[in-house]
Amino acid sequence: MAAISLLSQFNPLANRTIDTDMDIAIVGAGFSGLGMAIQLKEAGVENFTLIERGDEVGGTWRDNHYPGAACDVASHLYSFSFEQNPNWSRAFGQQPEIFDYIKRVAAKYDLYRHIRFNTAIREARFDEDAGIWHATTDGGEEITARVMISAVGALSDPAYPKIEGLEHFRGKLMHTAQWDDDYDLTGKRVAVIGSGASAIQVVPEIQKQAGQMTVFQRTPSWIMPKPDRPIPEKEQSEYRESPFKLSKRRYRIYWMSELFAPFIISDRPFFKKRAAQIAKSHIRKQVADPALRETVTPDYAIGCKRILISNDWYPAIQADNAELIADGPARITEHSIITKDGREIEVDAIVCATGFKVPSRAAPFPVKGLGGNDLNAAWADGAEAYKGVTVSGFPNLFFLMGPNTGPSHTSVLAFTEMQMEYIAKAIGHMARHDLKWMTVKKSVQDRFNRGIQKRMKHTSWTSGCNSWYLTDSGKNTTLYPGFNWEYRMRLWLFRPSEYESAPMRRGAESSRAAA
Ligand code: NAP
Repeated sequence: MAAISLLSQFNPLANRTIDTDMDIAIVGAGFSGLGMAIQLKEAGVENFTLIERGDEVGGTWRDNHYPGAACDVASHLYSFSFEQNPNWSRAFGQQPEIFDYIKRVAAKYDLYRHIRFNTAIREARFDEDAGIWHATTDGGEEITARVMISAVGALSDPAYPKIEGLEHFRGKLMHTAQWDDDYDLTGKRVAVIGSGASAIQVVPEIQKQAGQMTVFQRTPSWIMPKPDRPIPEKEQSEYRESPFKLSKRRYRIYWMSELFAPFIISDRPFFKKRAAQIAKSHIRKQVADPALRETVTPDYAIGCKRILISNDWYPAIQADNAELIADGPARITEHSIITKDGREIEVDAIVCATGFKVPSRAAPFPVKGLGGNDLNAAWADGAEAYKGVTVSGFPNLFFLMGPNTGPSHTSVLAFTEMQMEYIAKAIGHMARHDLKWMTVKKSVQDRFNRGIQKRMKHTSWTSGCNSWYLTDSGKNTTLYPGFNWEYRMRLWLFRPSEYESAPMRRGAESSRAAA
């Protein structure tokens, strides 16, 4: 079974045909939503609609088009396993190429005709008697569906920093996730707030253009060398000619990532020490000044925040036109930033590389399930789901990239593809048994999450730093505390006995009554 499960990562469309005409609404047309739609199509289901608030597919790869935007997962793994791409031009894909890939896949599987663009869901409520979700759009329209799948992404709403005076700034204000391509940075005095994953990509590009660049680093990141390289045309053509070779490369990257997972996830000193050695050596090689070395060396355990990869961040912050300030701004005026030690730095533009509002702490939109129960109330102590996919009391509702399914060491798609398969199996079960609704038992969900949180105590993420992975009370509701292969095995089987359900036909016995 284990071997089959591991191999299945390259065959996620292996579900059998689903014979159903039930309406399915998928919220979001990024990687997850599109992958789910393909999964359904391949199972013979056509009666689905993707509801997308933007005007194009692509989600995070449509929105994050700041200069330097790229993926820190190797290209050959950061793509659908059933739609591998031999034509990646770099070992680590850049935003335009990834965005093109997503659009190409959407067109190839004829998904555009299923998508309602420029439509955001404002709220959704479940009608228990009819077994139907009623979702209201921002235009006030009502959309009904038997099954609703949330594919809204883990990080889609930009978070601006709470800094006194920011609203009064009269220069150009941009967030990395809301980049204005028409704004010319050439010769400008630019401030960048943040030193996380987005900052380390945008800063080297800004430094090349700006007259003066000031980077506000509140907390340094652990940064590893980036093993990036262009993929020559000859190698690409080998992948085109040999799908085996292409899959072999994907497998290799996948299993190397799994091999290194403990160095990122585990809080054991053995792993931490070795990982930190590599990152410190990177600093020593790229930063000559001892004072700056100290400033950019984190004082928290490596892996606690996301480990970043870059070869050009340290050179960029040491360039003649650059300055790194080892703190956040104290306040902002109409034309300048005031540092914590009282210095005034005049700037033309402020770039906020300050991250996102984290939806796994809250419902993607107000959701009312069985008995009118509110999802946000159910998640008051932190979001929880069964296998990250489904929440007790919220029937026929599924999540992609739900709570505790974020990857720390591998491609998010390695997680979401398995979720798509699991959801298709659940829908197939509903169809075969003519179920009005189905929801996971609370006891099953609780047992799963007790296990997750128990393991969480031994991870780097709970070792004492502040990160978007954690809720205010310090609970990690975002990441999966283990190997991807192990998560895949957990999702391999859909077990109806873990669910309670209500039949469509009158008079048929409800498993809820029996449960
Ligand atoms: P982030 O990791 O949350 O980093 C936000 C940065 O802004 C941090 O350095 C934070 O400092 C700083 N910040 C926030 N408020 C501030 C304030 N008031 N004053 C000063 N600094 C402030 O956000 P991100 O860089 O956008 O990355 C978020 C996630 O997106 C990543 O973890 C990753 O999962 C994903 N991402 C992935 C890629 C990729 O290559 N695949 C690229 C970009 C992003 P503190 O650390 O002190 O809070």
